[in-house]
This record gives sequence, C-alpha cells and structure tokens, in this order.
Amino acid sequence: MKPTSCPACGAGKVAPRSADGVRFGYKNVPDLRAGPDLRVPTCDRCGEIFVGEEVAKQIDQHMERRYAELVVAKTQLAINRLTPTEVSRRDLERLVGVSAGYLSKLAHEAREPSSPIASVLMLLAEDPARVEELRHLWHDKDRRQAVTSPAKSFGEAERRAERWEREFATCFPKSGGAAGGGLQ
Ligand SMILES: [Zn+2]
Repeated sequence: MKPTSCPACGAGKVAPRSADGVRFGYKNVPDLRAGPDLRVPTCDRCGEIFVGEEVAKQIDQHMERRYAELVVAKTQLAINRLTPTEVSRRDLERLVGVSAGYLSKLAHEAREPSSPIASVLMLLAEDPARVEELRHLWHDKDRRQAVTSPAKSFGEAERRAERWEREFATCFPKSGGAAGGGLQ
C-alpha cells in the first residue's frame, strides 16, 4: 500500500504501521492491547487509523488471539492464587461445577476457558473468603446460615439472612404459609 495523504489532518501520510499498544474494546475486555504484529493504515502526523472492511477483519483475527491469551493468563493467575493455599484444586473444581482435572489443565496448558468460568475464578481470587461463601450458597439446606462471609455487624448478617429467606421464598413458595411475609 502506497502512502496517501491523511484525510483527517491533511498534512500526514497514511501507511500501514504497527498498532502495538493501541487498545480496542473486544468482547468483555474494554481495553484490549494490540500486539506488534498488527499493522493498520495510520497517519504519521495525527495518528488517526483508517479501518476498512479488510483491515477490520485483520484486527478482529488479531484481537481474537490477544483475547484468548489474556483470558488464559488471567485464569492461570486466578487458579494459582487460589490453589492450593486457599482451597484444593479438586475442591474448587467441585465448587464451580467443572470436571475433575479441568482446572489443572487450565493451569498448565494454554487452554481458553469460557468467559463465565474465567469470571468466577477471577472474582474468587480477588477475595478468597468468597470460596467459603460459595460453598454455603450451594447448600440446599440451612439457608439461614448460608451466607457466612464476614459480615461487618450482627445486624448486617441478620439482614442478609432475611433477604436470602425472602428471595428463596419467592422462588420456592412453601405450601401452606410461605415465610416470605406477603411475597408470593
Ligand atoms: Zn493525519
């Protein structure tokens, strides 16, 4: 591609240049960084980039690869933070509902997990106390004790437990007088 003059500033020349460090919104990542091997028509004066259909396709392919690398890296970091210090890998697998050995595979191979799995692992790694909270949330029984993350006060714990009761009663009304206090 021959350099052409820039329609944006009128002074610079537009030619394919490395987009290394340029950030694009891609899927759930608002600021995914492009790598050095992506080249897009860019003005050498004002920095404007010009994206036609063909270039858009190249950007998409490039960002798909960068996205997969980012998801793998974030997931591996989360797994390594959580296991084995906070929870055993097998225990965590059971808790988030994936098959045995899956988290080990994610930790050691460049496998891209689904975005919801990556999200859960990232959230848990950010606050490992929530591992225990999740364990209790999955209980069918004893919902009053379900939420055991450290509440700041007895009042807060009580309110949480009551809210939990109300929501549960809305989803599964008991026959003959729900505990939901008027909620149906
Ligand atoms: Zn320009």
